[in-house]
Amino acid sequence: MESLKLDKDKLKDFIAALDSKKVYAPQKVGETIKFAPVNGDLEVSLDFANTTVPPKEIVFPQTETMFLFEQGGTDINLTKGGAEKVLLGVRPCDARAMSVVDNLFSWDIDDPYYLDKRKKITLVGLACLEPPLNCFCPSVGGGPASTEGLDILMTDLGDAYLFQPLTPKGEQLCQLSSELLQPAGAEDNARAEELHREAEKKITREVDIKGLAEGLPSLWKSEIWKEVAEPCLGCGICTYLCPTCHCFDIQDEMEGLDGRRCRMWDSCLFKEYTLHASGHNPRPSRRERQRNRINHKFSYFVDKFGVTACVGCGRCINLCPVNIDIVDILSKVKEAL
Ligand code: SF4
Ligand code: SF4
Repeated sequence: MESLKLDKDKLKDFIAALDSKKVYAPQKVGETIKFAPVNGDLEVSLDFANTTVPPKEIVFPQTETMFLFEQGGTDINLTKGGAEKVLLGVRPCDARAMSVVDNLFSWDIDDPYYLDKRKKITLVGLACLEPPLNCFCPSVGGGPASTEGLDILMTDLGDAYLFQPLTPKGEQLCQLSSELLQPAGAEDNARAEELHREAEKKITREVDIKGLAEGLPSLWKSEIWKEVAEPCLGCGICTYLCPTCHCFDIQDEMEGLDGRRCRMWDSCLFKEYTLHASGHNPRPSRRERQRNRINHKFSYFVDKFGVTACVGCGRCINLCPVNIDIVDILSKVKEAL
């Protein structure tokens, strides 16, 4: 399908034309920017660097009820399912991250909770023309206009958005609002490409990750992990808000005789994460936990699925309260190899 154009003043009409599909867009909720359902009261603004909370929470909620049960009963009431959703304004790194996480949730067994939601979302991306602080996506295979994982890529042309439908889902979405979209001209496509090139030049952080997957195990005893771990508070922000981190815990919660089994985000940077019932902990200090974080993203995940579990969004750098910087860590690792 050819590229299309949407005048910016028709963005609201475009959202309204998406029928029953629930549209989620970046919105300020308290102090954070996150994907939230669009309703009449909220102004949708696509003028943001990136959301604080990645859109992974739409398909992998922070807390999710898996099923309900009654103490002493034998029935369970599965709670999976949900409506079709359109995520508008997803940054290319976060769409790539969903493709990365898909590997995990369809690995040895298919995870019905994740996959059901995943198949019901349409990802409408927005190219980063002003890449966020500390982004290094080109170093890990992405780019400010990467199309991986997206159904449509939008580019801000000033007074209009260029729409590039990339999948049948994306084409279908464009058809729902065909009267609002105009065919784009060759000059619009050329302008978008120029903007994408300019955006890539604005990214200043970089790191060479070649050889890390094979080399990291040889640094098992390196002093690097001690240095990285020293200032770490173990708060877990870098993993909670990482778009590719996917660890979870499962717990049963009771209220009287009514129970629910739920899963919630967990972090490999927490001590309890690997604590055995015996009291033994194979990752007893932050040194081992930071070593695992880096090895998992840049070595184990590559071995298992052939992709790096980092899309270079820079969130973990921007949000770490003690300024631990993954680009610096990787540069040190690279130097040590
Ligand atoms: S590790 Fe950091 S830079 Fe990489 S995807 Fe996660 S939050 Fe983004
Ligand atoms: S955000 Fe920083 S301090 Fe918190 S766990 Fe991650 S590296 Fe440690």
